[in-house]
Amino acid sequence: MTTAVLGGGLSGLSAGYYLLRRFGKPLTIYEASPRVGGWVRTENRKDRNFIFESGPRTIRPVGLPGANTLELVEELQLEVTPIRRSHVAARNRMLFAKGQLCMLPNSPKGLFGVLPPFTKPLYKAILRDLVTSSKKAKLEDESIYSFAERRFGKEIADYAISPMICGICAGDAREISVRFLMEGLFEKEQKYGGVLKGSLMARFKDKQVDSKKEGLFAQEQPKLYARALEEKWAMYGLQGGLEILPKAMRKYLGERDVSVQLSSECRNLTFSPSGVRMTLREADVPVEHVISSLPAHKLAPLVKQQHPSLSAQLLDIPYVDVLVVNMQFPGKLLKQQGFGLLVPPVEKLPILGVIFDSCCFEMGENTVLTVMMGGHWFDQWFGDRPSPKQILDLATSQVQRILQIREEPKFSRVHTLHKCIPQYTVGHKRRVEGIRNYIKTYKLPLSLCGAAYDGVGINDVILSARRQVEAMPSS
Ligand SMILES: Cc1cc2nc3c(=O)[nH]c(=O)nc-3n(C[C@H](O)[C@H](O)[C@H](O)COP(=O)(O)OP(=O)(O)OC[C@H]3O[C@@H](n4cnc5c(N)ncnc54)[C@H](O)[C@@H]3O)c2cc1C
Repeated sequence: MTTAVLGGGLSGLSAGYYLLRRFGKPLTIYEASPRVGGWVRTENRKDRNFIFESGPRTIRPVGLPGANTLELVEELQLEVTPIRRSHVAARNRMLFAKGQLCMLPNSPKGLFGVLPPFTKPLYKAILRDLVTSSKKAKLEDESIYSFAERRFGKEIADYAISPMICGICAGDAREISVRFLMEGLFEKEQKYGGVLKGSLMARFKDKQVDSKKEGLFAQEQPKLYARALEEKWAMYGLQGGLEILPKAMRKYLGERDVSVQLSSECRNLTFSPSGVRMTLREADVPVEHVISSLPAHKLAPLVKQQHPSLSAQLLDIPYVDVLVVNMQFPGKLLKQQGFGLLVPPVEKLPILGVIFDSCCFEMGENTVLTVMMGGHWFDQWFGDRPSPKQILDLATSQVQRILQIREEPKFSRVHTLHKCIPQYTVGHKRRVEGIRNYIKTYKLPLSLCGAAYDGVGINDVILSARRQVEAMPSS
């Protein structure tokens, strides 16, 4: 079977990796830009001992998706930089709210005191869940904000859930589906009438699945995953930065004669009973099957001519723009150590959060910070398209105010990431089912993976590629 993979980001490269592992060749990956990696991009300033990441920087070694990524990292023999649960970057997460920097509780003890910005001890939110009955009519979906407010109260929705959603997908919790992050809790609540009650009942009643039962790992779990469990990693990075991963995948595939064609944008897909004709800039290429890892809004125009309804469904998945500002200051300037801080949207500030890169990873005598801005609120704050200098000045003034840093950054980078994070708004799961059903009904030789469908994190997109390859017929 000749298969083409569209997109050379992490998901497309992973699709290539799993296709090679399952079927062997022939197989080609087509990437529009002159590089692999998609949103993963590292600037490694070895001369000055620091790293700027404009996209992802850490991966969580959690559950099946986490184990799956570690299997890949192990196969590629990459050097990981673990951040253990006892590390300050794993323990300390902050909010900037009500004019002050607030440390989030990091132990059960923290549930009993009154910690700003909260005005009540957090255990009261748990009690509220225990005594609040769920809505009579079963819900299929709702926003994560409404779920949190219903179960735990407005303060938790505003100061815990909303900033967390900003940190994960730069989105508005009032629009993002509860299934995006809390599908299990939501279903337990719907089934048993409460989150805590449901979690306890499910322990006894519901069937537990493990990775072996799901058939992901034929033999035993990956050694690196076992190490992550044993050493209690909270997250990890890669030595030299995360772009090492797509680069290593490209090398691995290249050494096994998988062609990764750069600067090869696919412009149209035409389906026929014998397969797919892909239109590239200089040629039409016939293949039997296409795996698209493209963002949904990039795949939509490619299928529009023949399948306008599919194209419209793909365009129903919204995306947000994010501004990423990397800054380096000489010397150790942070008074508080931790992973970073998030700004709850109720604060109405022009930033989503700040990551303390030089606390997460060793960067010598540097303070390296990344400021995230925009997302759902991009047009509100940046609709009139400020210059990179204006963006940098705004980010610097916020950092100086919040973290009480007087210095100006010595090195900086401003990245405008256009439509970089899909938003799993209420009804997302249904939308994705609709898209996949359409493909099935019309028997299109097309599989979809990548951040648009089955999760927005690195682990999710790698696993989604694997699942799509495994679902392909064997002949
Ligand atoms: C700012 C930011 C921070 C993040 N931080 C984290 C983090 O810390 N941890 C984490 O787990 N995840 C994080 N993520 C998410 C993670 O980066 C993504 O899940 C992942 O990179 C998505 O990979 P992908 O392959 O699905 O998509 P993409 O990276 O979008 O790759 C798609 C590729 O397709 C190519 N392409 C587009 N159109 C065509 C065409 N017509 N023909 C051929 N090729 C085409 C593009 O050039 C691109 O290379 C972050 C994302 C962003 C934006």
